[in-house]
Amino acid sequence: MKKPKLAVWKFASCDGCQLSLLDCEDELLALAGEVEIAYFLEASRATVKGPYDLSLVEGSVTTAHDAERIKDVRSSSRALVTIGACATAGGIQALKNFADVNDFLAAVYATPDYVSTLATSTPISAHVPVDFELRGCPIDKRQLLEVITAFLHGRRPGIQTTSVCTECKRRGTVCITVAHGTPCLGPVTQAGCNALCPSFDRGCFGCFGPMETPNTASLTRRLRLLGMDDAGVDRIFRTFNVKSFEEARS
Ligand code: SF4
Ligand code: SF4
Repeated sequence: MKKPKLAVWKFASCDGCQLSLLDCEDELLALAGEVEIAYFLEASRATVKGPYDLSLVEGSVTTAHDAERIKDVRSSSRALVTIGACATAGGIQALKNFADVNDFLAAVYATPDYVSTLATSTPISAHVPVDFELRGCPIDKRQLLEVITAFLHGRRPGIQTTSVCTECKRRGTVCITVAHGTPCLGPVTQAGCNALCPSFDRGCFGCFGPMETPNTASLTRRLRLLGMDDAGVDRIFRTFNVKSFEEARS
């Protein structure tokens, strides 16, 4: 029987989510036994032509060229799953959506005229239909394996959409906000990391993006009580998932 073809594509991103796939190590051999890794330039220059049964797409759309390229990826893919904050929410590069992109260009590049970029960074779903969005910056490898397995078996992935707080409770981590007054975005952030940061006494900074029904107004009141001013509140929400958190706050 022919194995399903898996393709992995990169758009504007840091490659961290693709590395999460390579980081599967032990599971990668089992995965390679189940699928033909047909296109994955981060892992191999050897490629196999499409169509592909499952495409994993990392990164956001920030150039006119990529806005066209994603259409080709979509048309050559039976199922398309976006992976990571860049692909699902535009990433930290979506900060430019809330400013003048020319200011960023002038601050970063010695010769901005050579840079051809769109004024915005947008998630893949803004350009083509997406079958599933896997959150995280970077994604969690256990969740990635669940998503790949689910698509290979024709079922919906079992990915929870509750908050990071539920993971603190499940693992018995004492709430750092309640116990120590540490600001934490856990109440409005989607679970998936097993409450990694609070387990090390650090506040969550929202790298999995907004949960299903985020009460950002209530959390904002709590952050203000903890002593944050308006600029501090804006700053804590404006990181890897700036676009989706700003939509959740509006
Ligand atoms: S530490 Fe953060 S994520 Fe954990 S319960 Fe408290 S507010 Fe929620
Ligand atoms: S606790 Fe928050 S910031 Fe830390 S890994 Fe989890 S989602 Fe990301």
